[in-house]
Amino acid sequence: MTALTLRGGMVWDGRADALREASVVVDEGKIAAIGTGAASGTALDISGYTALPGLIEGHAHLCFNAASNWRAVFDSDTPGRMLLRMVAHGRTMLEAGITTVRDLGAPTGLAIEIREAFASGLAPGPDLLVSGAPITTTGGHCWFMGGEADGELELRKAVRGLVKAGVDWIKVMATGGSMTRGTNTLAAQYSTGELRAIVEEAHRLGRRVAAHCHGTAGIRAAVEAGVDSLEHCSFAGPDGVDRDDALIDRIAASNTIVSQTISVGYRRWLDDGQRRQRSELLQRILKTGCRMIASTDCGIPNVGHAELAGGLEVFSELGGLSPVQVLRLATSASGELLGMADRGALEPGRRADVLVVSGDPTANLGALTRVRYVIKRGQVVFAAP
Ligand SMILES: [Zn+2]
Repeated sequence: MTALTLRGGMVWDGRADALREASVVVDEGKIAAIGTGAASGTALDISGYTALPGLIEGHAHLCFNAASNWRAVFDSDTPGRMLLRMVAHGRTMLEAGITTVRDLGAPTGLAIEIREAFASGLAPGPDLLVSGAPITTTGGHCWFMGGEADGELELRKAVRGLVKAGVDWIKVMATGGSMTRGTNTLAAQYSTGELRAIVEEAHRLGRRVAAHCHGTAGIRAAVEAGVDSLEHCSFAGPDGVDRDDALIDRIAASNTIVSQTISVGYRRWLDDGQRRQRSELLQRILKTGCRMIASTDCGIPNVGHAELAGGLEVFSELGGLSPVQVLRLATSASGELLGMADRGALEPGRRADVLVVSGDPTANLGALTRVRYVIKRGQVVFAAP
């Protein structure tokens, strides 16, 4: 692999408050140097552009088609066709500058297959962390992915089976979800004891647990059981957001990751009152010092796989955060919190996952949609025509 120097452009390193002028030298898949005088190997002129770390999507579903007919398509897909769909979605994400994705729900075998295909270069796509089929109650949220298990014994066995298959994370549905008819979004699906059994098994085997939770009872059970990330964490109650500040304090103290899956869909789905409630909730979570990452739940109806950039805009609006603050959540903070210290920042020694965009994303997040190049492990994997 020959070295490559991105020269003439600006750099945002994943942490700083502003851009700086510098060249980025990549070699052997890693960042070799960053500086005004640095150069090695082939030169790539990025004058007028900004280089930043490849984005990290904290919660995605490559197997869903992001359209309203998602369930009919999911049910009628053969495994082969679903795999092709996942390949296409992965490519869409990569071309949007998303170089690492945590996929929190797909049929287990396909999730592993696609992760390996992207990792080996068999197909172009981001690096994946996968959970495979989410563990859920019989008939519970997303049961159709194949992860039904009830009671401590079955739950322990389910975790062991998933780890045996090769998953990176364990996903559990701690409440119902609106996408699965017959489930209760507001109620806990498992007892704290059952969730604790999952966490115990997962931790024993060196895996972390992500819990889907909307209703406050499910969030509380997940926190008490010691899960590692709270997905959605929407504090959903019968009349809108049912915020529990003492529980938010506890989440902050426990270092649990909060992954709220904020997407551009919020602009269409929520009325003014709901948006205000969600904004107050997000600001409270941020103010309390919870560890947050950026995520969109892309793949679900009306959340396209490339919508992370739009989701970050909504995140910044609702959370009252500057573009740089939300960009950190999709780069350096995500890398650290998801246990991938090798990425998320443009610093010597880290992976050369680089997104090159037109304009200054630290001033306007819209720049993220003007992708010029995507570089993964030091290779240009996408160049805009
Ligand atoms: Zn999801």
